[in-house]
Amino acid sequence: MSTASLFSVPLDRPMISFELYPPRTPKGEASLQRTVGELAAASPDFFSITYGASGSTRATSRELIRRILAETEVTPIAHLTCVGASEEDLGEVVGDLLDGGVRDFLALRGDPPEGQPDWRPHPNGLSRASELVELLRRIEAQRFGTDHRSDRRSPLSISVAAYPGGRHDVTGQPVVGVNDVAALLAKQEAGADFAITQLFFDVGNYTELVERARDAGVHIPILPGVIPLTDPSRLQRLSGLTGVPVPTDLLAHLESADTEAERYRRGLRASVDLLREVLDAGAPGLHVYTFNSSRAALDLLDGAGLRGAGARARASLDSPTIGKVDHV
Ligand code: FAD
Repeated sequence: MSTASLFSVPLDRPMISFELYPPRTPKGEASLQRTVGELAAASPDFFSITYGASGSTRATSRELIRRILAETEVTPIAHLTCVGASEEDLGEVVGDLLDGGVRDFLALRGDPPEGQPDWRPHPNGLSRASELVELLRRIEAQRFGTDHRSDRRSPLSISVAAYPGGRHDVTGQPVVGVNDVAALLAKQEAGADFAITQLFFDVGNYTELVERARDAGVHIPILPGVIPLTDPSRLQRLSGLTGVPVPTDLLAHLESADTEAERYRRGLRASVDLLREVLDAGAPGLHVYTFNSSRAALDLLDGAGLRGAGARARASLDSPTIGKVDHV
């Protein structure tokens, strides 16, 4: 089931998906296998699989995708970045994934490698995610003889990134002069089917992004990315990686809990509240950043009464009433 087509049918439940990253150690690999099984049993609509800087996880990302395709009924989305790769290299990676049965991609520019402050493309590479979307559409046309602009159902589904609250540098400062909505529009014009957002802590960041995007002519669905807020040290690490500042009152609330169990309960409560607010605001579903752990991700769905939503969503995909549906 193509991920783009999930957005074209009337669903009576929110779409649910999970992000996974490839394992870094043999121990991580064994526990990821369990996690994939537990998350797959919740019938999500898709998994998305991250891709390390400069293609550093190319083999492990590919292997995780292969396992998901072979061992589950869940569609995997392969993340791809432009970092350190020529256009030819990228064509090879995409060809390899297509040969393995992958039809769903998340096209990203990627971050500069560690220690390099500014973004520099490979001399024969791509500079922006929109160019990667164009490359994917060109490969699609060559390989399948289709034109996504005229074919109602393109063989490939292409998603892209969006940023509620704007972009931040790793110190948490907003990056000025960045026109994110222009970037999103360019990605849509290049052929993106939908966007998945960076994590955020305030529903207002999501609704404001959607409003600005719609005003600028972006019509593709914008799926909010959410994280379980159960682990304050992880939140701080993530903040360092993404630059998205963690609200100090949330951190204080979590850190002042007397026990680990109480901290988890508070974090889960805060996550479920955010998730409900986002859905109430009209989001088409939720993309949960799992950090390769099923417990908090599934507790989050249970807390919001969403476990199994994907299975119900897929059942309605079998109905003949396929048409365009408006999402925020
Ligand atoms: P782009 O959309 O190309 O934007 C890059 C810069 O160019 C931005 O400043 C943007 O504003 C500007 N820009 C682009 N087009 C225009 C335009 N037309 N007009 C004006 N400005 C423009 N990174 C990884 O390395 N691996 C992953 O697996 C990964 N997964 C991610 C998943 C999600 C859901 C998200 C939100 C991010 C992920 N990232 C990942 C991080 C991402 O690679 C970085 O945030 C990166 O810095 C930007 O990528 P992008 O695709 O948004 O870039």
